Amino acid sequence: MQDQDWLSERGAHLKKRALEERHVVPPASTSVAYQLENSQRQFQLDEPSRAMLEENLACAEGAECAVTFASGMGAISAALCNCATAGEHILSHNLLDGATCSLLKNWLPRFGIETSGADFTQLESARRHLRPNTRVLYFESPVNLDLRLIDIAAVAEWAREINRERRPEQRLWMIVDNTLATPYGQRPLRLGADLVVSSLTKNIGGFGADLGGMVAGPSVFENSWMSFRKDFGGLLSPRNAWHFLVYGLPTLPVRFRQQQESAMKLARFLERHPCIEKVAYPGLESFPQRELARRQMQDYDGRFAPGTMIHFRLREPVPNTGENARKFIDYLANHAYAITMAASLGQIRTLVEHPYSMSGAPLDPGGIRLSVGLEKADDLIHELSEALETVFQPENHRP
Ligand SMILES: *Cc1c(COP(=O)(O)O)cnc(C)c1O
Repeated sequence: MQDQDWLSERGAHLKKRALEERHVVPPASTSVAYQLENSQRQFQLDEPSRAMLEENLACAEGAECAVTFASGMGAISAALCNCATAGEHILSHNLLDGATCSLLKNWLPRFGIETSGADFTQLESARRHLRPNTRVLYFESPVNLDLRLIDIAAVAEWAREINRERRPEQRLWMIVDNTLATPYGQRPLRLGADLVVSSLTKNIGGFGADLGGMVAGPSVFENSWMSFRKDFGGLLSPRNAWHFLVYGLPTLPVRFRQQQESAMKLARFLERHPCIEKVAYPGLESFPQRELARRQMQDYDGRFAPGTMIHFRLREPVPNTGENARKFIDYLANHAYAITMAASLGQIRTLVEHPYSMSGAPLDPGGIRLSVGLEKADDLIHELSEALETVFQPENHRP
């Protein structure tokens, strides 16, 4: 069977049933096995909710195919392990999501895969870290945490240059983690990336209730991603797939636009506040990479989509201690109602995090990350304002 026939058949089963039974919402089906029509079939029919979700995700990313996983990390593992093998090398940007960083540092080297980091915001210097056995360039944009951007089209041009000199079986693959921007706000494949990975747990799921992940790209990978997923135990459960299909993906544009509008208001408020030293939000005029942001982060109608994440730093009495940042976050944890302290992002609840103390990572001790949700922007601003006042004028707030 040709790849394309197989692809179109995977979602067709559920669509056909939905049409016959006149469902408005696809039926929530769960079964770990499906009846086969005859002994000649090479493939088992995929679970239909998952297959429909995958068709939709492929469409959203502009990919030939998408394969879902039990978590973002399941998808990232599959993407990396299908592009590099023992004796080969993965070059990544040196700031990554914590779990991705641990996978590259602690696990892949055990299987003989070399990994190292470089600064992908400075491509001239990143080039020097390329090795003859490098098979993967990997990064997030915006980078989870400091929200710096990496120029996807420029990295793609670099990868094309290298691939012109290489035999096809030695080809370099470029993988972008699109979790923060989502396909609604940025399509890395259109900008020249080979593969895109995303945690569905975050913005695409959006409600903070389900774990999932996906990888999308050329259909030559589809069968090996699916067998990796089966053999390493990374299958997305049909119930979660149905939630992403019915609740998450269709509401992504509305949620994202609304959250983004609030993020813009909050970023402007923080930027003007005298107690704030620095704010990074791609939508601000003061954002150092604003030209790249406008070129790269666009929704399906070509409108600027600076996203829902803000990174900022308070003024500190003693630099690099993060003392005020800790006080600020502790005040919010105990007094705020609209803002929640939690180590996640991309859901309808506004989440605040002090990565330095919460993850113990070797990071900027003063940095605070805010993931803006659906609460009323004025309420969020009120709570931020109150917390800042308390930290900077403690004598006004003695009980
Ligand atoms: C959360 C996250 C991941 C990991 O996703 P899980 O679904 O939690 O496994 C990967 N990349 C980024 C950028 C993330 O924010």
